[in-house]
Amino acid sequence: MRIVLFGPPGVGKSTQADLIAQNMHFKRFSMGDTLRDEVASKSELGTKIKRYVESGELVPDDIVFELVKKFVCENQKTDILFEGYPRTVRQAEALDALLSQLGLSMDVVLEIHLSDDEVFRRLTNRGYCPNCSSIYNYDTHPPKVDSICDNCGQKLVTRSDDSEEVIRRRLQLYAEQTKKLANHYNAPLVYQRIRAEGTKQEVFDKIAHIIHAYSNKR
Ligand code: ADP
Ligand code: ZN
Repeated sequence: MRIVLFGPPGVGKSTQADLIAQNMHFKRFSMGDTLRDEVASKSELGTKIKRYVESGELVPDDIVFELVKKFVCENQKTDILFEGYPRTVRQAEALDALLSQLGLSMDVVLEIHLSDDEVFRRLTNRGYCPNCSSIYNYDTHPPKVDSICDNCGQKLVTRSDDSEEVIRRRLQLYAEQTKKLANHYNAPLVYQRIRAEGTKQEVFDKIAHIIHAYSNKR
């Protein structure tokens, strides 16, 4: 089974992706984490990617597609959760074509929805662990010890693309490009939209319910 999780930056996608991977036997593919790891490794590809990620622009399609293709080809027999890919209709078409070549399908596409004001508030209060990629919110989901990752003890930082200007650009790209995924994946059982208000457990319960309902119906 393959699932896509999409929603505006700051909506809690990566928190939910973690919960899904921990509780439901999906292997997680996070495009944002994959790109940040590549940048941190200072590889030739990482150097090329860096300026896009830091300015909030989308990394060119051919680069992101190679990364997702490698993961999918290595995990053909595994249940996959895609987070942060696809982000445009063209990327969705490329993924559809790849899956169909391999005799695989996209099963559930989940949009997590939140108002722009709330998204902005969440992003400007965010802490990021540069070691294990965990995300915290100093209001709603603070670490147990001030500025220290619960998971691995590393000191939290502000992600370089969480500045006000870059956040606005990311939200703009989301509204212009990523929202259109809803029309692309418009089959009733496949496309599902949920609201991100509530605790992370409440949001996760809604997601788990949708995934179970899908598994039972097919
Ligand atoms: P968020 O969803 O909070 O913006 P991500 O970690 O998903 O954060 O993405 C961070 C950045 O990585 C994006 O702003 C963009 O530069 C790049 N990126 C992530 N996914 C893609 C993608 N599918 N295509 C192109 N660029 C991407
Ligand atoms: Zn950590």
